[in-house]
Amino acid sequence: MSLIVQKFGGSSVANADRVRNVAKIITDTYKAGNDVVVVVSAQGDTTDDLIAKAKEITNNPSAREMDMLLASGEQISISLLAMAIKEMGFPSISLLGWQAGFNTSSAYGKARIHNIKADRLRTELGKRNIVIVAGFQGINKYDDLTTLGRGGSDTSAVAIAAALRADKCQIFTDVEGVFTADPRKVEGAKKLEEITYDEMLELATLGAQVLNNRSVEMAKKYNVELEVLSSLTNKPGTIVKEVAKMEKMLVRGVTKDTDVARISLVGLSDTPGVAFRVFDKLAAKNINVDVILQSVGRDGTKDISFTTSEDNAEKAVELLSEMLDCKISCDTDIAKVSVVGAGMESHPGTAAKMFEALYGIDVNIQMISTSEIKISVLIDKKDADRAVSAVHKAFMPEE
Ligand code: ASP
Ligand code: MG
Repeated sequence: MSLIVQKFGGSSVANADRVRNVAKIITDTYKAGNDVVVVVSAQGDTTDDLIAKAKEITNNPSAREMDMLLASGEQISISLLAMAIKEMGFPSISLLGWQAGFNTSSAYGKARIHNIKADRLRTELGKRNIVIVAGFQGINKYDDLTTLGRGGSDTSAVAIAAALRADKCQIFTDVEGVFTADPRKVEGAKKLEEITYDEMLELATLGAQVLNNRSVEMAKKYNVELEVLSSLTNKPGTIVKEVAKMEKMLVRGVTKDTDVARISLVGLSDTPGVAFRVFDKLAAKNINVDVILQSVGRDGTKDISFTTSEDNAEKAVELLSEMLDCKISCDTDIAKVSVVGAGMESHPGTAAKMFEALYGIDVNIQMISTSEIKISVLIDKKDADRAVSAVHKAFMPEE
């Protein structure tokens, strides 16, 4: 007998038929003799709808009340799912985050899980119940409800799997797994059988939307093996783990991220401490920067460009205009295209191959950044889809 954690996203439980479909998957797992803990998100677009409701009342809701509101979405889906399972003749109980022992930091809207006091979960499993837990939420030291940030249910599932030392953590969604590129847009995109935590983290951060990146970080930390699979087709998905077989691929995936803004500071004084002051200021205001490029100094001045997310751009320009006496510009018509793969660490020529593919379709590269397992380029936003296809084609072996 194994202990299996299964997580179902909002689209997998969007309506009564989908809820029944999910209940069938869960009860099949249970019938096979396993203990099952299930984590669910709010149905369909419920969370977005709740946010819209708050906006009808105020533009500036308190973070605490926002969490009180948003946590209600998952309360609906857990109770309905438990009912559907009982209707099929199996024992089941639904638990809110706090009932399942999720203790979090007090940062409303972006709480971190401190620990899971799993006694209740264990008791319910001991009674042979199928336990359905509300994802995305917990409770803080003030006994207030908290939420973990958008897409947080993946993290809830991984946290339970880690706390209970589950044998498996299955993340069910509406795609069949992790693909080498977005299968709706890129011809020849293939489903991966396996991928490493590090590669998945890069892909999740770079815009592949299958898994929330904090959940992957946590899975790596506690060595929880994940499987990403579809709740709509009965097929094996993609396994995320420490070491993954390479399937003859140098590159595991190609992604694009269009939520990028580039800010250029032109004519900064070429003296020590300038970069420190700029990025320290941004960090103090919680503005994350990504690619940074500094020009060689000339005539006592230098230029620095960096990227951040679009929603941070305006704030960053405002902050920097207050403190710097240089020309500041901001460009949001750009996209970041990246290739990710642990294989590139030991294979020279990956970057050249990517640049050749872009040259082949006449796309100009504006900035480049690399890590051991990733190469990202910044290009014109309008070229992004073509670039992803061309780069994907260059790297994926022909069938
Ligand atoms: N319902 C929450 C959201 O939409 C959590 C989740 O789906 O993981 O962000
Ligand atoms: Mg959702």
